[in-house]
Amino acid sequence: MSENTTQPAPLCAKCGKELSLSETTFLLDSDDENVEERVCEECSQSVQDEYHEQTTDINYIGAILGGLVGAAIGVAVWYLVAIMFDLTIGIIAIGVGFLVAQGAMFASGNKRGMSLQIISLLITAAALFIAEYLVGVYFINQFFTELLGSSPEFVWIPIGEFIELMVLGMREEFDFIAVVIWGIGLYTAFVTPKAKKLTAK
Ligand SMILES: [Zn+2]
Repeated sequence: MSENTTQPAPLCAKCGKELSLSETTFLLDSDDENVEERVCEECSQSVQDEYHEQTTDINYIGAILGGLVGAAIGVAVWYLVAIMFDLTIGIIAIGVGFLVAQGAMFASGNKRGMSLQIISLLITAAALFIAEYLVGVYFINQFFTELLGSSPEFVWIPIGEFIELMVLGMREEFDFIAVVIWGIGLYTAFVTPKAKKLTAK
């Protein structure tokens, strides 16, 4: 589309200086892939420090609590959608991963890095399991109610037995979609708090 139209010279996103072609410039790490922001060589150092600060002095208790809050919201949404509409929407698994990661990042003091990625991944894995469990228990109770024609006492299935049921179900009919959805949810949780880095360009 844009051929040799005279484009304005790119400006440094930090100091606003015009970036010349001969200068080494640095690409800022943006959450939005479509946004390309560059900084000049002088500004790159302060950005580097900023990025470094994001991976130090992490409030781990905050990270875990924040992740759990994100997880609780995600699980609640999952549960409600599942029992109200009788379906499990895969996108919600991704939402759970995203919420956990955002919660962990926010409550850790807007931090990033590998330790947060791992915290986020583990909490998301637990949250996805708990969501499956709660929904499973709900539908098993529903099944009994329909079978007996009345509401029997609510039954909590022991977690061990629930896992056995899940494994059995998977053996009977491997739910490829469910595995992919879980995978994307976990991937989202792991990738979102990645440390930012500058790229020379
Ligand atoms: Zn600059």
